[in-house]
Amino acid sequence: MSPSQLPTRSEYLKTWRGGGGKVCAVFPAQYPKELLWAHEVLPMEVWDPPQEPARATGHLQPYICSVVRQGLELLLAGGMDEVGAILFPHTCDSLQNLASLVADYLEPPAPSLFFYNPKAPFAAAAQSFYVARLQALDEELSLIFGPAPEGALEEALEWSRRLAGLYARAYARRAAGELKAGAAEFYAVLRGGEYLHPRDYVPLLEAWLERASATEQGRGAALLMSGVLPGPPDLLETLDDLGLRVMHDDLISMSRRLLYPPPEAGDPYEALARSFLAMPPCSTRGSSLAERLAWLKKLARESGAQGVVFSVVKFCEPELFDLPELRRGLKQAGLPSLVLEVDVNQEVGGQAATRLEAFGEMLS
Ligand code: SF4
Repeated sequence: MSPSQLPTRSEYLKTWRGGGGKVCAVFPAQYPKELLWAHEVLPMEVWDPPQEPARATGHLQPYICSVVRQGLELLLAGGMDEVGAILFPHTCDSLQNLASLVADYLEPPAPSLFFYNPKAPFAAAAQSFYVARLQALDEELSLIFGPAPEGALEEALEWSRRLAGLYARAYARRAAGELKAGAAEFYAVLRGGEYLHPRDYVPLLEAWLERASATEQGRGAALLMSGVLPGPPDLLETLDDLGLRVMHDDLISMSRRLLYPPPEAGDPYEALARSFLAMPPCSTRGSSLAERLAWLKKLARESGAQGVVFSVVKFCEPELFDLPELRRGLKQAGLPSLVLEVDVNQEVGGQAATRLEAFGEMLS
């Protein structure tokens, strides 16, 4: 399997809906996908839809990030007209405001659902709070889509375990230089999980891991990527063209939510809560700077990364607030860093390529 063999989002949605399948649009970042699968609902994650921002601009301040802007644009352009619900996880103030704007002031095409994650430092009540939020969401999903069939949640957790294992394997093989795939291919394949049901995605991922497993020959500087998304697309292509090797990442949309401890056996809600509380540190989950810095240093050490490229979405407050201290701490640890402020779907262009090339040469 190569990325070109992955069905596109629109192709897959068309097929899914053509078979009578139910869909829920989901805004970033972390949400209990297992609950949606259990209700036989396909989560359609909305990270960086490619619309030209036009209508959304009139509803948002100019300092709102492009993830929120593009998501609202998709909604206003009719891209969510056929979904059964829209889920807003409590990720950051901007998404929280978007949820209020959509639910209270616009006429959304489907009911809005809200999911409140507990924020770190996690107190003793965080586990029971998360379980209560899962139960509340489960009830809301039942009202909209009908109750989950008997045993469906356990089956969904099994899919989740298989995916957790495959994601972990993909990251470990890449870090060990055992994956013959550049950054563009790696992220194109892993982003398939944003819209493919695991029933279809797991076999594709397994086949790709099998095919791509081989010793990597690249000799360029080894990098760790941090920030929000693995993009814009020309950024990944530029890294590949320059021979720069992304060994690991600390991206909100990728390893910070894909490298989760697989849910254990036992009560499914309790297992999902334990899994959530043990996820990697993240600015949107309230993790401390000390935790985040220690995590970045660990990823760099274990993957052999020589420096860090921060690809931060403009106006992303959770990430930008942490940045100065993280860079200072990394520098003290002998890890140089480079910051690119990006808009999703807007090319980074030649200037970024020149800066990346110079950064790579400095590391080599
Ligand atoms: S890019 Fe940052 S500010 Fe925008 S939705 Fe994501 S976390 Fe929130």
